[in-house]
Amino acid sequence: MKAIRVSEFGPPSVLKLLDVPTPAPGPGEILVRVKAVGVNPVDTYIRDGAYRKTLTPPYTPGSDAGGVVEAVGADTNLKPGDRVYTSGTTAGGFNGAYAELTVCRVNQVHRLPERLSFAQGAAINVPYATAWRALLQRASGRPGETVLVHGASGGVGTAAVQIARAQGFTVIGTGGSDKGRELVRRNGAHHVVDHKNPKYLEQVLDLTGGKGVDIILEMLSNVNLGKDLGVLAKAGRVVVIGSRGTVEINPRDTMMRDAAIFGMALANASDVEIASIHAALGAAFEQGTLTPVVREELPLAEAARAHERVLEPGAYGKIVLVP
Ligand code: NAP
Repeated sequence: MKAIRVSEFGPPSVLKLLDVPTPAPGPGEILVRVKAVGVNPVDTYIRDGAYRKTLTPPYTPGSDAGGVVEAVGADTNLKPGDRVYTSGTTAGGFNGAYAELTVCRVNQVHRLPERLSFAQGAAINVPYATAWRALLQRASGRPGETVLVHGASGGVGTAAVQIARAQGFTVIGTGGSDKGRELVRRNGAHHVVDHKNPKYLEQVLDLTGGKGVDIILEMLSNVNLGKDLGVLAKAGRVVVIGSRGTVEINPRDTMMRDAAIFGMALANASDVEIASIHAALGAAFEQGTLTPVVREELPLAEAARAHERVLEPGAYGKIVLVP
């Protein structure tokens, strides 16, 4: 079968489409035929070699596939031909989902409702599970609170806006382009602001009548964390989801508000938390309250282009690769 392989860490050009042996599912595993695979920013950090060294080349990237069950080696009610999405693959990604076939543990394979395409299935795992965990598990968000989704036009942001709106939060979302902000509005944000406008955080405060927001889901903490603390309400919480560098904060801004800053990595979620997240997401996808947004589908062979585009400004939902 064909798969993208990374033989050494480096720029996007190290992503090569190669012929590799067809994998088989072992005990407790499921083989999934990949119809589409989601491209996440973390795939680029790992490929670069600058991230936590969790993988050693050669490996195949990717965790988030939409596809069909090909073969089953586990005790499960899934059977060949069932439509599914994945929330990881075996071997920590060595045989990842940027491939025609991928092997998953049984608890990494979830039913994909008929109403969603395979590309939408590939847009579920990292974005939606991260948004759910950040809002409802790390920040312990309560319906009725106000949440600022700081970076609402990208993969995690679109998921966060949809989830927060469906759960009864008042949602303020930010985007850096007209098109991105239109998407944030369509996804259900009550208010949309431009994070490139120098006065946008004043607008956020005005939207809350000066009280501040209860929760901030932060996609670019190295730029925003210091300023975030100034627009938090009393007992407000910031969840650090994304960061690409360091930042200075004034700790007194947390003191004055009894505020809290929570770090989070989806990889730290327990199996119980993950199972609970996918149970909730599955119901919402089936019922139609959540709908993944796919910005563009590229052929698997163009993985390098996808890795460049996912880091460019002007986000609009997910980029997926099609084998
Ligand atoms: P994405 O699809 O590339 O979206 C990036 C978002 O950041 C876009 O909405 C973009 O808006 C926005 N942004 C750009 N400049 C900003 C600014 N100055 N202030 C606020 N937002 C700004 O990426 P993603 O998949 O949503 O992931 C977002 C971040 O979270 C990435 O750094 C990713 O690595 C990280 N992440 C972490 C976890 C975890 O477990 N902690 C899980 C998933 C993702 P415009 O393009 O419209 O300007």
